Amino acid sequence: MNLNKELLDTISKEVDICTKCPLYKTATHGVAGYGNPNAEIIFIGEAPGANEDKEGRPFVGQSGNLLDKNFNVIKLEKKNVWIGNIIKHRPPNNRDPLQKEVKACKPYIDRQVAIIKPKLVVTLGRYALTYFIPNASITTTHGRLLSSNDLNIYPLYHPAAALRNGKFMKTFVQDFIKIPSILEQVKVNSIIKTEKRTIESSFT
Ligand code: URA
Repeated sequence: MNLNKELLDTISKEVDICTKCPLYKTATHGVAGYGNPNAEIIFIGEAPGANEDKEGRPFVGQSGNLLDKNFNVIKLEKKNVWIGNIIKHRPPNNRDPLQKEVKACKPYIDRQVAIIKPKLVVTLGRYALTYFIPNASITTTHGRLLSSNDLNIYPLYHPAAALRNGKFMKTFVQDFIKIPSILEQVKVNSIIKTEKRTIESSFT
């Protein structure tokens, strides 16, 4: 059995019985995250909505359909990615998550990212972006490769925002189709970094 899968399954079981904040009281299922435990790319949203709460899986509603459509466009197979959220239980009526809820959920997403060690973290919407880069503005950073604590972050608008507003949809798709070249860029940057370290160490 794959070690990453085992570790992620353990977290899913913890989420299922989590009572660290009151959200579990109104939710039907915990939604820990889903996908390839060894993914190079992970997609992180805000919190489960009604469909996700019902099924216990992230992005299974309309926002998920938009992701699936764009995975097809860039020929990224869903079996090769991992998808999750910052918040693991649905906030009532899809209200914005509270800071204390983000804090309570923090150990889950932090451990999930540390286990998967993705080359690229695609954040979906403002909440996921500011989780990793606290003061970043989605308006000015979407579609640009950023880094934070050794993670490569690529911010996109939230699919729900794209579905609500045609202007955001156009930008969302433009940013999405850049994912394969952003991933290539990340891999090249990592090779350059390793070579630089090797050269530096040979001089010390
Ligand atoms: N929106 C999110 O941010 N996450 C989901 O899982 C579904 C909708």
